[in-house]
Amino acid sequence: MAKKQFKAESKRLLEMMINSIYTQKEIFLRELISNASDAIDKIYYKALTDDRLVFDKDSYYIKIAADKPNRTLTITDTGIGMTKEELENNLGVIAQSGSFAFKRENEAKDGHNIIGQFGVGFYSAFMVADTVTVISKALDSEEAYKWESKGADGYTIEPSAKDSVGTQIILKIKNNSEDNNYDEYLEEYRLRSIIKKYSDFIRYPIKMDVTTH
Ligand code: ADP
Ligand code: MG
Repeated sequence: MAKKQFKAESKRLLEMMINSIYTQKEIFLRELISNASDAIDKIYYKALTDDRLVFDKDSYYIKIAADKPNRTLTITDTGIGMTKEELENNLGVIAQSGSFAFKRENEAKDGHNIIGQFGVGFYSAFMVADTVTVISKALDSEEAYKWESKGADGYTIEPSAKDSVGTQIILKIKNNSEDNNYDEYLEEYRLRSIIKKYSDFIRYPIKMDVTTH
């Protein structure tokens, strides 16, 4: 499969994330949960004006699943999903993200720890993962697609299988290094405390599932 290149600005941010200059790596989870919540908001607002859609509160949630033996952390949402084009445009091009421009502007004004306060977005997943896989099925779409990247050298998109509308983000968690412990992002107590710290205000249920063996 042909590998597509990230746009220059995306590549720079991505490299920053991979080499992680940020001490607070834990914020990746806040970013992914906030994207999941935004995606559910989108389907919710659509349901308000579209008679074909019924917003049944119980069917909308975010699920965090840690699989220790496989070293994966999976964030699943029942939001609006992404088409092939949206995967390409939204995840391949950081310039699409409003928050990045906003953040840089503010960073100039008030130098310290702005990263912790404002969104760094989807690419923050690369602070803790060496492969990021996104499987998504958009509303009103028959097909699902899989976007995958191991970092700065590009990404692939191919058809995939997914029954329900929404998005699944699978992080292959990095192995521990001398300076960094990544195992903690597969620990239930640690994940719970990160969620409590940053995502307490999210108005959709956040479910948790941990596989230990
Ligand atoms: P921002 O949230 O500031 O737009 P991100 O880098 O966090 O920037 O995300 C980029 C874009 O990717 C989002 O605007 C959205 O269009 C898309 N996206 C990311 N995660 C999801 C998701 N779980 N469901 C649907 N779309 C998503
Ligand atoms: Mg975001």
